[in-house]
Amino acid sequence: MSLRRLLAMAVLLGLAACSSPPPPPQLAAPAPAPVLLDPDAACLQDLAALGVSFQPVQSFGDSDQGCGVGNAVKVSAAGVPWNRPGVLTCAMARTLARYQAEVVQPLAQQRFGQPVARIHHAGTYDCRVRRNNTTAAAAALGGSRGGRLSEHSKGQAIDLMAFELADGTMVSVKKDWRSGGAKAAFLKDLAKASCSSFNVVLTPNHDRFHQDHFHLDIGPHTLCGY
Ligand SMILES: [Zn+2]
Repeated sequence: MSLRRLLAMAVLLGLAACSSPPPPPQLAAPAPAPVLLDPDAACLQDLAALGVSFQPVQSFGDSDQGCGVGNAVKVSAAGVPWNRPGVLTCAMARTLARYQAEVVQPLAQQRFGQPVARIHHAGTYDCRVRRNNTTAAAAALGGSRGGRLSEHSKGQAIDLMAFELADGTMVSVKKDWRSGGAKAAFLKDLAKASCSSFNVVLTPNHDRFHQDHFHLDIGPHTLCGY
């Protein structure tokens, strides 16, 4: 193609670009999607009856990775305040509220003569595979995929780190699990009793990834690892 023809085409293209119609005006932003209430309304009623402070959250998911939470709620207190809010399924929030009232508080009263006033947790919903030696080895080799999705990925799990008593005393899984004394005894009793509320209970006895928290979940697997 001659230089002259190329120049002529460039001029024509330029004219075409100049004569193209202006872009249409921007459409108004769509209204925010309404929050979908839990179709299991009985669960939300149970949370209210149990004194849980929560907000319904629109169900969400990531189809690529398989993460997501249906019937989701954002909880800031279940019987006692949490150190920070967490997103869970309504069913898991209800289980935690009952666990708090029926397991945690009686054991605290029995061991310390006072209730737990605040729960310190390290995480609820989190889109990730389970942390264990296999997935850690895969991550070290440059890839973290391949492990089974954690129940955290479905809002069915929580990691409890510490229990703050009414007088401000902290009972910490990391510091007190192996310390001996009343705090360690409380944590051991609590871990054992947790198996009646949750399907999976993992403590520092399980592996090096659980040295500072109890992992509790209501997923389909069963493992009482206190
Ligand atoms: Zn966990």
